[in-house]
Amino acid sequence: MPQASADNLRFPPPVLPEAAEDLRAEVRAFLADSAGEEAWRPNSDFGAGFSPEFSRRLAAKGWIGMTWPKKYGGAERSNLERYTVTEELLAAGAPVFAHWIADRQSGPLLLRFGSEAQRTAILPRIASGECFFSIGMSEPDSGSDLASVRTRAERVAGGWRINGAKVWTSNAHVNHFMIALCRTGEAGEDRHGGLSQFLIDLKHDGVAINPIVNMLGAHEFNEVVFDEVEIPEDRLIGGEGDGWRQVTSELAYERSGAERFLSNFHIFRALVDEIGATPDAHQAAALGRLTSRLWTLRSMSLSVAAMLEAGESPDVEAAIVKDLGNRFERDVVETARAVIDVQPGAMAGGNAADFPSLLAEAVLRQPSFTLRGGTTEIMRSIIARGLGLR
Ligand SMILES: Cc1cc2nc3c(=O)[nH]c(=O)nc-3n(C[C@H](O)[C@H](O)[C@H](O)COP(=O)(O)OP(=O)(O)OC[C@H]3O[C@@H](n4cnc5c(N)ncnc54)[C@H](O)[C@@H]3O)c2cc1C
Repeated sequence: MPQASADNLRFPPPVLPEAAEDLRAEVRAFLADSAGEEAWRPNSDFGAGFSPEFSRRLAAKGWIGMTWPKKYGGAERSNLERYTVTEELLAAGAPVFAHWIADRQSGPLLLRFGSEAQRTAILPRIASGECFFSIGMSEPDSGSDLASVRTRAERVAGGWRINGAKVWTSNAHVNHFMIALCRTGEAGEDRHGGLSQFLIDLKHDGVAINPIVNMLGAHEFNEVVFDEVEIPEDRLIGGEGDGWRQVTSELAYERSGAERFLSNFHIFRALVDEIGATPDAHQAAALGRLTSRLWTLRSMSLSVAAMLEAGESPDVEAAIVKDLGNRFERDVVETARAVIDVQPGAMAGGNAADFPSLLAEAVLRQPSFTLRGGTTEIMRSIIARGLGLR
């Protein structure tokens, strides 16, 4: 076995620029104004808050695509300023999911690998909160092992013909585009060749979107079937055969954000409120432990954001934040069940805001946290490889 080493593992203490703290005050004022709107009932998972109207209001503030060049509708702010905006939105339980994927990863992917025509056509629409994206990676027999995707794109006159199926596609029924990872050639010896990414209009003829209802009874993800879907040549993103390299860089955006430990922050906040100002010793110790973990996670996550801002690739550090963050989210729910004498409430169509109902939602959502964006085992494999343990 190779010598294990943590030498390359770094979490330099992050320093937020002054501009980020100024922005924080502005975001809090905006959120205080917006609170109480019907579309914004804080819930048990940030992924459940889908409000195109709220996204457009954020866009009007310049808070979608905010790190992108101005010529594509961005605001040329830093990643740390973006981090400040996203953590405030998550902490407030705001309905951010409509624009989240496009802002976090599809837009940055197009900025990095897309053609000038793709950037000009799509990025300003994302930044104005008018265009939402789905991730088309997982397939019925291919989730963790993305190299095995079988959805096929074949060259035809003037473009590509796509056949196959994606699964667990969040919000494909309400979004505009998917970036789909497809097979365009042979895998080669390292299994990573022959994959390419395509921009697919989800309203295109031949794209069937079949609902998958989750354990809450909610329709949030889908199976998406492509039956002889013909798309023009210019829907290829980046180079033919470069899909693996591109998709791996996309995963770095997906795994390193504050949503990996703040996605159910509202439950933590509700737990603190429910316990009130006079906790017993057991409750005080439990809240103290959770709070210290939360603060440590935030520092680690900010540290990763600062490294990304500096152009580094902290893949192992990001995997550690996701693994520890998802465990924290799970423990918030378990702690709530352990320290408060409350039975998770009867489900009320996913609309009740009282603590027992929120806790019931949280219990049912909790298993998905360690699946989406890569499972625990996959995160730990990345960490083990980074530490030289395998
Ligand atoms: C709420 C939610 C939203 C999602 N949204 C999307 C989306 O929008 N787009 C999208 O493309 N996907 C989406 N997914 C899918 C998600 O990315 C996959 O579920 C995940 O990557 C795991 O893939 P799988 O379900 O095929 O499980 P599998 O890969 O079949 O894994 C099954 C089990 O085997 C373990 N395992 C697999 N390989 C290894 C290995 N090499 N070593 C050790 N253990 C291993 C896994 O950890 C897991 O426990 C979503 C999932 C959820 C829960």
